[in-house]
Amino acid sequence: TRTRLIAGNWKMNKNYTEGVQLAQDLANELGHDTHGVEVVVCPPATDLKGVSGVIEFDRAPFGLGAQNVYWEASGAFTGELSCDMLKSVGCTHCIVGHSERRDYFGETDGDINLKVKALLAAGIVPISCCGESLEVREAGNQVDFVVGQIRADFDGVELESGDQLVVAYEPIWAIGTGKTATPEDAQEVCGAIRAALVDIFGADIASQIRVLYGGSAKPGNVAGFLAEEDVDGALVGGASLVAADFAAMVERA
Ligand code: 13P
Repeated sequence: TRTRLIAGNWKMNKNYTEGVQLAQDLANELGHDTHGVEVVVCPPATDLKGVSGVIEFDRAPFGLGAQNVYWEASGAFTGELSCDMLKSVGCTHCIVGHSERRDYFGETDGDINLKVKALLAAGIVPISCCGESLEVREAGNQVDFVVGQIRADFDGVELESGDQLVVAYEPIWAIGTGKTATPEDAQEVCGAIRAALVDIFGADIASQIRVLYGGSAKPGNVAGFLAEEDVDGALVGGASLVAADFAAMVERA
């Protein structure tokens, strides 16, 4: 049995002051008990240190994730952040390969593969995203497409345990659109992801890896996704920016 995980991706929202406020509001909404659900928030890089302070001082029951990382350890890579930098401000998790980074910033499966390896080496849990476009979905190729991403993103990746990695299935057509996949749509692809993970990492490790659904997930629909066998949580965009909504999703997980 896998521990459920609700992760919030704040994307490019909330300046430092607003981010600290949101973290405090969330800490208040959640209280100290998340009834066994793991919670992670992924603020913009400029908010990480402030949110990590809230986690520490308020003993807030959530982990801290970044939204991106660069795989090199240090050097002349203007504008980038290393794994060590993320660790130094308290990050335990990092989103990689989000469709917005793939589409707007040209991130490739090769880049994602290097980022996953660097994060694992640093002891940070990658939340590795995959998902098909509307065009791929309409052609009925979502399973092949996503499994292809998984194989490329985790090529040569080695795990000691399934806790080291999280996968998020986010169909692009359901992100920020208000259009959600049905729980059956999510299970079809998350089940195929699990089968690919069995192939890559073996059955024991694959059975421990959390596979999340993302795309217009909200308080009213989260339980339906979580009822599916291979959906272990949610990666939440818009609804993670409202403390009461995000807390309600944790409550219903
Ligand atoms: P929304 O929940 O706003 O659709 O965003 C999903 C997402 O992209 C999370 O990473």
